[in-house]
Amino acid sequence: MALKGIDIFKMTPKTNCKECGSPTCMAFAMKVAQGAVDISKCPHMSDDALAALSEATAPPMKTIKVGTGEAEYTLGGETVLFRHEKTFVSPTRFAVNVAADADVDAAVAEAAKVDYDRIGERMHAEMVNVEYAGDAAAYVEAVKKVVGKGMTIILGCTDVEAAKAALEVCKAEKPILNGATAANYAEMVEVAKAAGVVLGVNGANIDELYDTTAAIEKLGYKELVLDVTGADTKETYGNAVRVRRACLDKNPDRTFGYPSIVNLSKIAANDEPMQIALASMFVLKYGSIVIMDTMNYARALPLYGLRQNVYTDPQKPMKVEPGIYALNGADENAVCITTVDFALTYFVVSGELERSGVPCNLVISDAGGLSVLTAWAAGKLSSTSVSKYIIENVEPKVKSRKLIIPGKVAVLKGDIEAKLPGWEVIVGPNEAVQLVKFLKDLQANGEI
Ligand code: SF4
Repeated sequence: MALKGIDIFKMTPKTNCKECGSPTCMAFAMKVAQGAVDISKCPHMSDDALAALSEATAPPMKTIKVGTGEAEYTLGGETVLFRHEKTFVSPTRFAVNVAADADVDAAVAEAAKVDYDRIGERMHAEMVNVEYAGDAAAYVEAVKKVVGKGMTIILGCTDVEAAKAALEVCKAEKPILNGATAANYAEMVEVAKAAGVVLGVNGANIDELYDTTAAIEKLGYKELVLDVTGADTKETYGNAVRVRRACLDKNPDRTFGYPSIVNLSKIAANDEPMQIALASMFVLKYGSIVIMDTMNYARALPLYGLRQNVYTDPQKPMKVEPGIYALNGADENAVCITTVDFALTYFVVSGELERSGVPCNLVISDAGGLSVLTAWAAGKLSSTSVSKYIIENVEPKVKSRKLIIPGKVAVLKGDIEAKLPGWEVIVGPNEAVQLVKFLKDLQANGEI
C-alpha cells in the first residue's frame, strides 16, 4: 500500500538540513509520498529506512530501458490507467516480425521504407522481432542481419542455447530476450543477467504469466517485460488490461508492474486490416511494444498519428519548430506567408500552399503553439512578434519583401508595415482553404 507523507517523515533523520533540496524533512517526505522526488535524494537516510522505503515508494510500474544510441527506448513508467487523469509517458513502440527462416534482409528493407517526420517526431518501425524457427545456427545468422540496423532487437526465442548464441552477436545493442517461460525461466534469467539485457516473460495464461514473473523476481531479476499475447484477440486484450489494472490499482500488485509486449503476428497473422485495427486498440490499451508482420504507410499513417495524439501531453500545445519552410521549390525571391506554430494550423496551411503549386516561404514564428486568433488574443501573435522574427530570421535569408498575413489578423497590417520598412504586407484569406485561389490570382496578376 502507498505510504503517507507522515509515515515517510517518521523515518527521516528530522534534522531539516535541506541537503535534499527541500526546506524541511516534512516537506521532503510529502514530496516523496506524491512521487515527486526519489527517497534517495536524502543522503542521511539510514540503510534500514532506505530499504523499507525504496520498495514502498517505488513507482507501481517499472521504467525499463532497451536498445542503445538512437534506438534506445524507455518503456513503462505509467502512473495512470486513463489519459484524462494524467499524461501517458512511454509511447507504444512498433516492431516488425521476421522469422529466422525467412528473407530477413528483405523484411528489414521493406519496413525501413517508412521513415518520416510528423510534428517533430520521427515515425518509423523502432524495433525488429526475430522469431526463432527451430534451428539455432540459422537463428544466429538471422540475428546478425538485424544488428546495426538502428532498430532495437527483440529475440523471440524460448530455446536457451539458441538465445545464448544469438545474444553473443547482438548483446551490445541491448536487445530484449523475449523467451522466459514457466519451463525455462531459471536458465533464461541467468542468460539475460549474463548479457545484461531485459527479459521477456511468457505464460500459457495470465496465471502462469503471474507465477513465472513472481518466480523470476524471487531470483532477483527485475529487468522485465511481460508478453501478454494470448491464444486470440480476446485473451490478449484481457491480459493487457488485467496486467495494467493490477499494477496501477489503488493497492498495486507490483508483480505485474512491467511494460508489455503484444505480438499481432501470432493472433492475426497475414491479416493487415485486422493488425491495423488491433494495433490501434493496443496503442490505447496497453501495449508497450506491438509486433506486426511489417510496417508500411497503410499501417504507419493511422497508427503513428494515433500514438502521437495519445502520448502527447494534453497540457502542452502541439507545436512545430519556428523557421522558414520553403514550399513548391521556393527560393529567396519567393513571397513570404506567415502563420502561427500550432501544429494543426501549420499542417492545414502548408497543405493548401502545396496544393496551390505557387512557390512560397512559409514563415513560422513562436506563437506559443496557439491558433491564429487565440495567439493574437493572448498577445503571442502581434505586429512586434512578427516583425521581430522577420528582421532577425527572414531578412538575412530571403530577398522578397512581400509578406502575406492571415486574414483573421488583418488588423495587424498597418503596424507590421510600420515596423518592417521596405515590406509590403498583403492580407490573406480568412480560411486556409481559400489560399489556393488567392495565391494563384496573385501570381496571375503578377503581384508575387
Ligand atoms: S536531506 Fe534528509 S535530513 Fe536533510 S532535510 Fe532533507 S530529508 Fe531531512
